[in-house]
Amino acid sequence: MSQYRAIRGMVDVLPDETPLWQMLEQTARDVLAAHGYAEIRTPIVESTELFARSIGEVTDIVEKEMYSFPDRNDESLSLRPEGTASTVRAAVQHNLVQSPQRVWYMGPMFRYERPQKGRQRQFHQLGVETFGVAGPEQDAELLLMCRQWWTRLGINDVLTLELNTIGSPEARASYKAALTEYLRDHFDSLDEDSQRRLDTNPLRILDSKSTSTQSILDGAPSMADYLDEESKSHHERLCQLLDMAGLAYTINPRLVRGLDYYNKTVFEWTTDQLGAQATVCGGGRYDMMVNQFGGKATPASGFAAGLERLVLLMQTLNLDAASNPDLYIVSSNENAFGQAMLEADRIRAEFPGLGVVQHLGGGSFKSQFKRADKSGAAWAMVFGDEEMVSGKVTLKPLRANEEQMTLSREELDTFLSQLEQLTNEY
Ligand code: ATP
Ligand code: MG
Repeated sequence: MSQYRAIRGMVDVLPDETPLWQMLEQTARDVLAAHGYAEIRTPIVESTELFARSIGEVTDIVEKEMYSFPDRNDESLSLRPEGTASTVRAAVQHNLVQSPQRVWYMGPMFRYERPQKGRQRQFHQLGVETFGVAGPEQDAELLLMCRQWWTRLGINDVLTLELNTIGSPEARASYKAALTEYLRDHFDSLDEDSQRRLDTNPLRILDSKSTSTQSILDGAPSMADYLDEESKSHHERLCQLLDMAGLAYTINPRLVRGLDYYNKTVFEWTTDQLGAQATVCGGGRYDMMVNQFGGKATPASGFAAGLERLVLLMQTLNLDAASNPDLYIVSSNENAFGQAMLEADRIRAEFPGLGVVQHLGGGSFKSQFKRADKSGAAWAMVFGDEEMVSGKVTLKPLRANEEQMTLSREELDTFLSQLEQLTNEY
């Protein structure tokens, strides 16, 4: 029989990596709670049209990356490629947009892309969406919140904030026309992808990776000359707030983001540590979408961070989140095992901050100690023949340079309570 393997681009996260994931996720939850954001959970499957309409028919995602299929009723459904459309759909459906909202979601997204480092077909995002605040102070809050998260993760120093404004839809339309006209004059020197995009999604050409296209763009009209006054002052105030907070940013006039729905503020957090997959988080303002989905016109702004890339970044920086057990319990025979099991159960109930692993499956003391050592535990707790007679337990240090101790139950509890305090402080 041939072995089954995971679907290409869909990745197993194995036990030695999950501590880092859990740390990343818990830190996010803490930071979000500290800013008054609440979680929203939407289905992983939605109607294909929902994504096509909000993300845009001529974007990479909708043109070639969606996992779409007819269900048994012949309705076209898609695995969600991102979270904003679903969140807006839910917010409108449940009347959440009557008053300002701050929500977040975390979970798997699906895009049929060429798998490579930091690019998968099933990947995970933490997304944040806010509704009801039109001013730049909402954008500033989102960016400051990102910085808090990066700082707690230990990656703030390797991230750069790239910022741009793409103006009102009208400003964007007239810029689009000017850009298209300019690029049409240089059509033959454009790379193939950009030639194709010229008619469908010319703004996307701005972030083409082709060097020949980039050098043509050096002479192209600039978005800044087409901006409406309101977008300009929104952008200036945002920059002012960021300056005040000491949050450094780089204005990148070619940053447009791939999705159709943005207006005014757009941003990306990038790093030079991950090669081609440099963007770990992207977002911006999307003031038209709620109305487009049938809700009353409501300003909105948000971002999504790619968790795989954040994990890769932490691994690159050798940041580790593994936590080892405090105690590994070994026992000499069946009788001692039973006692040890009861004691382990009691310790877990009375000292819930401690990690207690009991050796299962018997074996010699020697082999049990080998496993104790491999577990990374700080202490081995021994239930041997002697301990059974004396009613005491022996604690053997496995890591720290400490003495072996044989303790009465009372002494043991004092010791465990100190150990628990130390663990919590850390
Ligand atoms: P890219 O230009 O890298 O394809 P994107 O603009 O398509 O990114 P967004 O739709 O803005 O990405 O998604 C937000 C974040 O989600 C990205 O910045 C990235 O960190 C992450 N992300 C997007 N697609 C993938 C993927 N296929 N695999 C892993 N992470 C991804
Ligand atoms: Mg993409």
